[in-house]
Amino acid sequence: MDFFSEIIGETVVLGIDSLILGFCVKQLSKCKHILNALQTAPILDIDSTLNTEINKYSDHVIPYVVIRGLVKPLGNPIVSNYNNTVTGVIQRLTIKEHVIARTSAGFWSDQTRTIHEVCNATPFVLNNGKYSIEVVDALAAELLDLDVISDKFEPMSPGVIDHVWGFFSGVRQRGLQTMEEMLRDGSYITAIGELSRTNTGALKIQPPRDGLPLYLTTATKSSLLKRLASSRDFLRILLVVFGAVAVLASGRVAYKYLKRRKRRQLEDSLKRQLAAGRKERRAHAREKNLTDVQLCVVCSENPKEIILLPCGHVCLCEDCSENIKDNCPICRERIEARAPAFIT
Ligand SMILES: [Zn+2]
Ligand SMILES: [Zn+2]
Repeated sequence: MDFFSEIIGETVVLGIDSLILGFCVKQLSKCKHILNALQTAPILDIDSTLNTEINKYSDHVIPYVVIRGLVKPLGNPIVSNYNNTVTGVIQRLTIKEHVIARTSAGFWSDQTRTIHEVCNATPFVLNNGKYSIEVVDALAAELLDLDVISDKFEPMSPGVIDHVWGFFSGVRQRGLQTMEEMLRDGSYITAIGELSRTNTGALKIQPPRDGLPLYLTTATKSSLLKRLASSRDFLRILLVVFGAVAVLASGRVAYKYLKRRKRRQLEDSLKRQLAAGRKERRAHAREKNLTDVQLCVVCSENPKEIILLPCGHVCLCEDCSENIKDNCPICRERIEARAPAFIT
């Protein structure tokens, strides 16, 4: 068995493990980056001081800032599909299919699949009295806290055919969930992003240019920081766990390699011992008084014992024959086979 097939299990584990490790490292560095940026991000009020504050930064851009205010649509708000007294600026409609599906292990488990999702948005500002900031590209927010306006589940009552079909296909329908979520008009939210002032003097907050996320959330800065810190800690634990798996798997590969080398060395030394033993036995069995013609052409000591094929020369003793691999020493023809020769 070659070495690779001996360590195929460890190789697969190492491959998958390094993919997960790579993902964790990337997520962790992203998480730390956001955490640092958020810790130093100033919390500003939407009032007359905002313009003075923004003047302190070059190009009138504050890279990352925390701002709280009331959501106010710039035009007509979106009216809820399910409750016409509710209006908002972002609406998300989701249809999810609930199924019981057979897993690869053979168990049945509840699963949900999103089969349809629509987002609508209308331009809006964060407002405080007569001051306001436009929120640009709100749908690109990494965290978008929406209120659930309606959440309905319609169960399906399966017939006999559905049961039979479900048994063979491995999927049984349970029902459809229709959900409507909205960022309501007038709700008080925290926006975290890049704040800038356009040439016309209007203020806007948008997803930052250097890859930091835009947040539109009901949470405060400190609770967001806590959330980020706990996901950072979780990623660290994952790193330790998967790092340990990598160390263990590499350790096993190294152990198997050393074990295999030791076994090879033992086998080789055993082979050498056997060969030496054979050589000695041959030496004892050989006739001592030989004429020159009967002696091996290489060592001139032992009798000629081997016939080389296809040339047919009998010119070597068994010991010398082991060292001559390619060509006959008499005629230089390629040696394809050899056999013991008995000269009586
Ligand atoms: Zn010889
Ligand atoms: Zn020959």
